[in-house]
Amino acid sequence: QQERLQATARLATVGEMASLLSHELNQPLAAIASYAAGSANLLDSGATDADTLQMLRQATQRIAEQAERAGRVIKSVHGFVRRREQQREVLRVDLLLEAVLPLVRLQARKSGARVEVDLPTPLPRVLCDRTMVEQVLLNLTRNGIQAMETATPLADRVLQLRVRQAHERWVAVSVTDHGPGIAPDVARRLFTPFFTTRSEGMGLGLSLCRTVIEQHGGVLDFQNLETGTGTEFRFTLPAGVAERPRPEIEPEANTETPTP
Ligand code: ADP
Repeated sequence: QQERLQATARLATVGEMASLLSHELNQPLAAIASYAAGSANLLDSGATDADTLQMLRQATQRIAEQAERAGRVIKSVHGFVRRREQQREVLRVDLLLEAVLPLVRLQARKSGARVEVDLPTPLPRVLCDRTMVEQVLLNLTRNGIQAMETATPLADRVLQLRVRQAHERWVAVSVTDHGPGIAPDVARRLFTPFFTTRSEGMGLGLSLCRTVIEQHGGVLDFQNLETGTGTEFRFTLPAGVAERPRPEIEPEANTETPTP
């Protein structure tokens, strides 16, 4: 009950909701605008070779994907606000990453950053509201990329996405950048709605991320890297159990008597 109250308090007002929606929609819209501008340039060039057509096809496909994403964001934020039962599904964690990676790589390339993905074997499954967790990943990766934009030498601009089975029941996902790290006075207010140090920022990303993860029963936190350059944001999600086919024959009764 307490946790719920805290989660709701973060998203209390209608104004916050409006900002939240526009914040979350900015990403797919910016991607659509950039794919569309790229396509227009290709068309203007008059080239009709197979490579150009393939690039156009891919850009159009990405535009369609992002438009769908925007639609899903509206639906899920709507559901989130009204605190309806969320759309939980069991899904392999690499599928979650795959959904956001094209956009993350696009943003990274614009900032001269590389993206590294580190997945464990076997691939764990998570139980989550897919669209909301994708938003969390997009927010954390965008923050990480932006953090490396000014002071980090090009060669060090690496964003790492790492997944680990943290515990039998929990899967941990971390997003690590090699930016300047987070100063103590910023750290104190990091998850407060509307706290931002960026002129164009809205300061809702991290507060939303934490709320989403807490609604899944998980934890979102961060730590500055010991090397002094960079930050790791880490969150946990409940591990999803894949449905196993039922054995056709009931297993024999256990003959051992359990010791009390
Ligand atoms: P916004 O991106 O709109 O500023 P956020 O809630 O996502 O809102 O982030 C709040 C602030 O936290 C940012 O303005 C930035 O100062 C700081 N921050 C977030 N992620 C990082 C990071 N990876 N490295 C350094 N600072 C960060």
